Amino acid sequence: LSRYHTDFHEIKQIGMGNFSCVFKVLKRIDGCLYAVKHSTRQLHQDAERRKALMEVQALAALGSHENIVGYYSSWFENEQLYIQMELCDQSLSISRSCQLFTEGEVLQVLHQIAKALQFIHERGIAHLDVKPDNIYIKNGVYKLGDFGCATLIDKSLPIEEGDARYMPQEILNEKYDHLDKVDIFSLGAAIYELIRGSPLPESGSRVLNLKEGKLPLLPGHSLQLQNLIKVMVDPDPVRRPSAKELAENPIFDRVLRNAA
Ligand code: ATP
Ligand code: MG
Ligand code: MG
Repeated sequence: LSRYHTDFHEIKQIGMGNFSCVFKVLKRIDGCLYAVKHSTRQLHQDAERRKALMEVQALAALGSHENIVGYYSSWFENEQLYIQMELCDQSLSISRSCQLFTEGEVLQVLHQIAKALQFIHERGIAHLDVKPDNIYIKNGVYKLGDFGCATLIDKSLPIEEGDARYMPQEILNEKYDHLDKVDIFSLGAAIYELIRGSPLPESGSRVLNLKEGKLPLLPGHSLQLQNLIKVMVDPDPVRRPSAKELAENPIFDRVLRNAA
């Protein structure tokens, strides 16, 4: 008997990751829409299961926050891990949307994801896969999702590294002392990509520039924002702002005034 098919009516596939696929579903008993993600491979070994379970254990331990994709439940079925989550409208993946973000929108993304990072860092968890593809939007609210690489900050050892394009040099050098600051670098790289309007290359000089803290100026955006991104991707993790410092930066007063 399948819990998935008993409890949910599958509407359509909405996403495909490296090791999982995601469906839009209707929960029969409450009549509401959800996203259900399940692994595409069978998790035979204990080690594989334990790794997959990090995602749901992090989500469950964190509790809910407006800027984090909501988590409802999880279960094993046919050796696959199923995760029932809040259904979002779309992710910010540049490669798919090729959409240019205005400075106001970018400041909203930065502020809201900084608040999500402050929340998870205060609870001892680092995300380690912050990138536009893992930032979702629902009813105009930005939400951090995909906790598949999340780990304990003070364990100083990532379970699985996220997308290399958004990883700072210290992770590529296997130095894991400031995992919270890895998320700050990744968010800086993601925001840089959003204002640049085209995906960061897999390798090459621009990535190198970013990792060396030298980023080319982008016309049409305030120096205030570009300087903030610059400290976020500083090669020295200690010099990057904490998520709390970031969320409280006066640059966001403008956003909040406009929203009020
Ligand atoms: P990755 O290869 O990025 O690690 P993954 O296997 O961890 O992928 P996710 O990133 O969680 O999987 O999801 C894959 C895709 O499914 C996303 O890029 C997105 O398009 C879609 N998706 C995932 N979760 C949701 C959600 N809650 N609401 C709407 N769409 C979602
Ligand atoms: Mg993802
Ligand atoms: Mg993932």
